[in-house]
Amino acid sequence: RQSELQARAQEAALTRDGTRIEVAANITDRRGAQAAYAAGADAIGLLRTEILFLDRDAAPDADAQRASYEVILDAMHERPVIIRTLDVGGDKPVGYLPFPHEPNPALGLRGVRIVELHHDVFEQQLRALLALRRPQQCRIMLPMVTEVAEIIAVRERLTALAAEMGIDALPPLGAMIEVPAAALLAEQLAAHVDFLSIGTNDLTQYVLAMDRGHAGLAPRLDGLHPAVLRLIAQTVEGASRHGVWVGVCGALASDPDAVAVLVGLGVSELSVDAPSVARVKARVRELDLPACRDAVRELLALDSAAAVRRAAKAKWPA
Ligand code: PEP
Ligand code: MG
Repeated sequence: RQSELQARAQEAALTRDGTRIEVAANITDRRGAQAAYAAGADAIGLLRTEILFLDRDAAPDADAQRASYEVILDAMHERPVIIRTLDVGGDKPVGYLPFPHEPNPALGLRGVRIVELHHDVFEQQLRALLALRRPQQCRIMLPMVTEVAEIIAVRERLTALAAEMGIDALPPLGAMIEVPAAALLAEQLAAHVDFLSIGTNDLTQYVLAMDRGHAGLAPRLDGLHPAVLRLIAQTVEGASRHGVWVGVCGALASDPDAVAVLVGLGVSELSVDAPSVARVKARVRELDLPACRDAVRELLALDSAAAVRRAAKAKWPA
């Protein structure tokens, strides 16, 4: 069974009715990229760039960052790589980047909210991304987007930097959907981006008002909660009005019970941990999209994550 899975891992994953679902991988570094490529990932759906900024005394400059990103693009050959801009603050502090003391960091300055606070650090990262040798392989993604103005501000900065650097085409720009307000206003956000990717780890935390690292609440912190699923449905619906595709890069995408649910909700890319790629692709190949869509309508009407999980297991047994 394992060898059978591996044999088809490098092929595209199509549902039984012929819809392509891109199965990508989440990584942090070159070794992750090599593992993702070998595992058959169609793309990198989330490169967490935080690791480049950790364990050092100062932020890496544009040249150092560009070199690190190039190595990852090379390891993926021609396959696309979504590079997420620095997502620090909240649960991800960095020593040399001073943040004001915040009583409630998860609700404070984090993700794209730091771009004004750490203007220069952000600019070095944008310069690195614009200077890549194969810009068409790269997509830029902003974390923790809450409103349209944040995207417009970054796009303006990218445009100005590109002009200064003599670059004419910007890489595609996308936003993570991990704040409930962003899911509710996905249609408005989608007018300003090329793609959306749902971060179910943070989205679940903020929808359920349960700390994502809280050990005692962990059993209840389930992305299959119907409230989270309704926001995913709303995101896909809003994005579709602008012809914008939606992926999921939170841990829910790697959850065997969730694959059919997310596909039924209209998600077209699942970014998973590399060891899950073959299994998720195999799961996609068993699905009939119209049947998933019908089933999901029933799941959205249920009243708890446990009920959704039970129903999903019954409809799509492993
Ligand atoms: C998420 O929040 O789901 C996500 C993918 O981002 P991170 O886990 O890095 O916050
Ligand atoms: Mg997140």
